[in-house]
Amino acid sequence: MPDVTHENIADIFGSKVFNSGVMRKRLPKHIYASLLKTMKEDLPLEENVAEVVANAMKDWALELGATHFTHWFQPMTGVTAEKHDAFINPTEDGKVIMEFSGKELVKGEPDASSFPSGGLRATFEARGYTAWDPTSYAFIKGSTLCIPTVFCSYSGEILDKKTPLLRSMEVLDTHAVRILKLFGKDDVKKVTTTIGAEQEYFLIERDMFKERKDLILTGRTLFGAKPPKGQEMETHYFGRIRGRVAAYMADLDKELWRLGIASKTRHNEVAPSQHEMAPIFTNTNVATDNNQLVMEFMQRVAYRHDLACLLHEKPFDFVNGSGKHNNFSMSTDTGENLLTPGDDPVNNKQFLLFLCACVEAVNKYSEMLRITVASAGNDHRLGANEAPPAIVSIFLGEQLTAALKSIETGKPVTEAKDLVLEMGVSTLPKLIMDATDRNRTSPFAFTGNKFEFRMLGSNQSIAGPNITLNTIVADVLCDYADVLEKADDFDTALDALLQKSITENKRIVFNGNNYSEEWVEEAARRGLPNLKTTPEALAEYASEKNVKLFARHNIYTPTEVQSRYEIHLDEYSKTINIEALTMLNIAKREISPAVVTYTKEVCDTLLAKKSCGDFIDVSAESTLAERLSQLSGKFIRSIDDLEKILAGAQDTPSAQAEATYYCDQVIPAMEELRKFADELESLVGKKYWPYPNYEDILFYI
Ligand code: ADP
Ligand code: MG
Repeated sequence: MPDVTHENIADIFGSKVFNSGVMRKRLPKHIYASLLKTMKEDLPLEENVAEVVANAMKDWALELGATHFTHWFQPMTGVTAEKHDAFINPTEDGKVIMEFSGKELVKGEPDASSFPSGGLRATFEARGYTAWDPTSYAFIKGSTLCIPTVFCSYSGEILDKKTPLLRSMEVLDTHAVRILKLFGKDDVKKVTTTIGAEQEYFLIERDMFKERKDLILTGRTLFGAKPPKGQEMETHYFGRIRGRVAAYMADLDKELWRLGIASKTRHNEVAPSQHEMAPIFTNTNVATDNNQLVMEFMQRVAYRHDLACLLHEKPFDFVNGSGKHNNFSMSTDTGENLLTPGDDPVNNKQFLLFLCACVEAVNKYSEMLRITVASAGNDHRLGANEAPPAIVSIFLGEQLTAALKSIETGKPVTEAKDLVLEMGVSTLPKLIMDATDRNRTSPFAFTGNKFEFRMLGSNQSIAGPNITLNTIVADVLCDYADVLEKADDFDTALDALLQKSITENKRIVFNGNNYSEEWVEEAARRGLPNLKTTPEALAEYASEKNVKLFARHNIYTPTEVQSRYEIHLDEYSKTINIEALTMLNIAKREISPAVVTYTKEVCDTLLAKKSCGDFIDVSAESTLAERLSQLSGKFIRSIDDLEKILAGAQDTPSAQAEATYYCDQVIPAMEELRKFADELESLVGKKYWPYPNYEDILFYI
């Protein structure tokens, strides 16, 4: 049945969001104006305004069937958290009325003690509070009014990903506006960073998902023999979207549109059963909320369609994993995208300044950027020739690179003509050639009027990478503004500054193939960090350079950096530990019994045949029985090895040492166990095997 919907998209779009349109309609003029000012200029909310807004919000929510409200926040777990409270308040006559006060809107008090705080909890009070973030709209999910909030401890330590994100946006705003003033743009009051987050995911049959304890407990398959067919035919990428998947995508789009999320593009990805969704970009704060909702609804909607949506970075070996592309730019409240090169980028000094600021920021703080995408899941992708390597570099394209070179050397671009590609059709704008010539292997690519940061794992919150991205770009802009504001002659100072920045930071620019072995060597010669694994990357987290950076811009205190470092280490170790325990469980309780049963069947057949007389050939059964016994012997020993090695994690002296131990000792032992299990899988009869295999899962829908 084709999923044709006659619902008007314009009608459903944003229908579950308490957005500016709804506010204008429902709030008294002066209240609306006051709230708008708060949102535009990041001012604190006045109490009387909050009271009126809360009431209007409640009425609106009740009309749409909501019964509860929640302060929706983003703790350090990387997912969202919510605790629902009903609107009801008892009255004297034994009934209830529906109430929601300004106080309840502005502030909530969840018990913070069960959220990761990286040691902050030990020193400070366990309670925390959540405060409404009026720059992100409230919305309705199911029967609950969700109020996007920030989450702090009572003594003010930040416990979430939202607070530092908002701070980093403010810092970038401050310094970008300073720069624009120098270019004579006094009308610009605010610069906002914008993000479009492309999201990859797998869709599989729910019945098969339920049969796989590894998928249920860890999000990825810990076992699975190589299927006869993988992604080598490349037929799936942008291929025809099959009926069930199409119905799922249509349903998902509708849900997202209701939440005001402009889901725009959907297509199949490289791996079988892999897909992608891209929304239209919006400001970073909203984009971060939206991406959390996208991930949540991808899973909810899958459930309704008897499917399971896998958001793990590497659900299956042998085919590509899933990532997330973080498209980043900056734009002014006057509507100008600061990364738009225009017709003549070589002479567009303002564009060049913002471009150089990004290049310099990434070069100076490439370790920190790498850290923001470090996770146990993403370790399977980065550097495995399916995603960018762990070495951060920037793709600018030959033309922009030539433009920067001409500024560096002071020589005009000889091939200036080639900088612009005439499309030969007068209505098409002039394009910078490389703008559309995407180098898919680059971790950080300039794509026409934005940078695309491609190292993110599919599962992660985009808050972390963007906190760092905003802060490092702001840091460089701040330095630039300090120099330029003092200059006697702006133009001369600007030229000198650009030249210096290009000379000092050009090592980060690489337009070639990031998957190649030569690049690894070349990057080492250039002195670019290559932090291959999560523990290696995290070890740099609390470096002096990073601590200084975040303290300088009031994003994190040194204590908060330390606590985040510890949270990430702990998360890594716990993830691997759970994976190892799940493997052992499946190996002992599912795979072993299957192998025993099958071996018995083979041996019974062998005996039965033998009992018929010596003339019957039993070589097949005896060879098979021998192979099974040998292999299961190795298999059992690798179970014992993994158990022993896993126990050793308890004896590590620090959180860093523990994470390194998991990486260097436990993971290889897991791989060894998997190897034997997968060999057994290809030997044992299908009907004996305890869970669906790769070809069943990947090629079924
Ligand atoms: P693709 O060919 O990869 O789909 P698009 O140009 O359509 O490239 O953009 C991919 C993503 O980048 C989309 O989510 C889009 O909304 C986003 N994007 C486009 N312009 C900007 C911008 N100025 N800032 C942030 N994201 C942007
Ligand atoms: Mg992309």
